[in-house]
Amino acid sequence: MNTSPSSSSSAIPLSALPRIAVLATGGTIAGSAQDATSTAGYQAGVVGVGQLLAAVPALSTLAHIQAEQIASIDSKDMSFALWAKLALRVNALLATGDIEGVVITHGTDTLEETAYLLHLTVKSTKPVVLTAAMRPSSALSADGPLNLLNAVSVAANRAAHGQGVLVAFNNRIHSARDVVKTSTFAVDAFQSPEVGALGWVQDGRVEFQRGVVRPHTVACEFAIDAASTGAWPAVEIVTSYAGATRVIVDALVQAGVRGIVVAGTGNGSIHAALQQGLADAVARGVAVVRASRVGSGHVMHNGAASDDALGFITANSLNPYKARVLLMLALAAGGTGPAALQQAFDLY
Ligand code: ASP
Repeated sequence: MNTSPSSSSSAIPLSALPRIAVLATGGTIAGSAQDATSTAGYQAGVVGVGQLLAAVPALSTLAHIQAEQIASIDSKDMSFALWAKLALRVNALLATGDIEGVVITHGTDTLEETAYLLHLTVKSTKPVVLTAAMRPSSALSADGPLNLLNAVSVAANRAAHGQGVLVAFNNRIHSARDVVKTSTFAVDAFQSPEVGALGWVQDGRVEFQRGVVRPHTVACEFAIDAASTGAWPAVEIVTSYAGATRVIVDALVQAGVRGIVVAGTGNGSIHAALQQGLADAVARGVAVVRASRVGSGHVMHNGAASDDALGFITANSLNPYKARVLLMLALAAGGTGPAALQQAFDLY
């Protein structure tokens, strides 16, 4: 294996090939439609991992692949139980000496949430790379096979060590913290707004053009253990918009949620009626995180709301869905009170 910090070549002696585990969870990459011209009407998660790998014979030149079918779902239906199963399996595999990296095939819909969850809970510096597809495996110009090949290229590359959880998609390598799905149909659906991709992968070559600044994986205090399956703190997301009311917030507080992330307008600004409901929720012990529905940029603390006075936490540059993941993990780790929770959002 080429140990150059920034690149690899495909001319690797077979005996030196790394062992990479491919964990399949379903998604469009494992989707199938009635005919090759159908890219929207298909069933996700019906093609098994063996068939996914068989479609990419060149994988055998990159790595010894150990495949596992973890689930076969449409990722819109991702669950806490499956998150726990996946995180536990990734950590168990990476703890063994012979597995050098993990590739996870996933649906695109919640990929950014799973990737960020693993970024904060994997206890290894070895590469973990998620990939997916926008077109089902049966489609003309299906993007899954090349995305899978590229994900294995990244996972097998020394330069990917210590970078946290990565997403390889459409020839780009993204950090799990930054990446978001930005298109309902295009094959370049994943972007890292504001900061851009970490690097690229093409024809077996892997190049990182910037590093990951915030702590992740082994530097995080968060952990998923066997007990995590059913014990996730309830955190929900509400949105601010013209004419918003506090009805949903009051119902959530009544239901006993531990946290609420608000997808505010602009710089996380919140309709006055909704904001009063959220302030009352804080008074009842609910952690409230102010994020933005805009899709890029960050939310300034004490900017569009008096966060310290209201007891609100701000999400920094995490979108509402990733902010929810961090809030759940921080609450599960025993974090309480806006000041302590804000520290987690400032750090991660
Ligand atoms: N609904 C699919 C999923 O997330 C979409 C995709 O994979 O592109 O599983």
